Amino acid sequence: MKLIIFGPPGSGKGTYSMRLRERYGLEKISTGDIFREEIKRGTDLGKKIENYLKEGKLVPDEIVIEVVKRKLEGLDNFILDGYPRTVEQAKVLDKIAKIDAIIKINAHKEILVEKISARRICSNPKCDGNYNIANIKKTIEGVEYILPPLLPKNDMKCDKCGSPLIQRDDDKPEVIEERLKVYEQQSKPVIEYYIKKGSVPFIEVWMNRPPEEVVENIVNAIEKLKVHFLNRNP
Ligand code: ADP
Ligand code: ZN
Repeated sequence: MKLIIFGPPGSGKGTYSMRLRERYGLEKISTGDIFREEIKRGTDLGKKIENYLKEGKLVPDEIVIEVVKRKLEGLDNFILDGYPRTVEQAKVLDKIAKIDAIIKINAHKEILVEKISARRICSNPKCDGNYNIANIKKTIEGVEYILPPLLPKNDMKCDKCGSPLIQRDDDKPEVIEERLKVYEQQSKPVIEYYIKKGSVPFIEVWMNRPPEEVVENIVNAIEKLKVHFLNRNP
């Protein structure tokens, strides 16, 4: 199965693709993760792309396409996260793989801002503890959001290591607005490209419940499509 996942910052996209990876034995391919890894290892590629990531700019298509082509070669089961980010990237992908479905995570901006602003991470750089202090219960345009908080056991101290919790710089409201805007601008033409193309089914789900439930909704939709996959080419 070959999937693409689209979702704004704060939509839980990373968590969902992790669960889908486990569930279906998919390879999770995140171009952002690949790039960060290359930079950490100080490879030639890493050196070439470092500045783009630092400035939050898109890495040029030629470079991204080369990396993804190499990565997807011979892979039959994967979920793509963070690719395609441009129409050009989508067109190249069309040539190298037949995508079975696009998972699109929807959420109202107001909810994303509230949710991201409420993220707290462990201040210990060796610890990956992360929490969320927002308790969201509201309905926007007919979508009912019930998103309980993920609180530490002790007053703003990490459960894993006891260090104080902090807020990441790019989780502050001014920066969030900017990240959401950039996501909107970038994803719109790519999504429109697939809508126009019309041959890849969309699985649209709302991020209006805790991750387990959202994943369940995605899985249900995939199972419905599967009948379709089976009836297709052997
Ligand atoms: P973010 O949510 O911050 O955009 P990602 O992990 O998806 O995080 O990507 C991090 C950075 O890697 C992006 O800001 C961009 O510089 C680069 N990048 C990732 N995927 C792509 C892509 N498909 N095309 C161009 N640049 C990309
Ligand atoms: Zn910790």
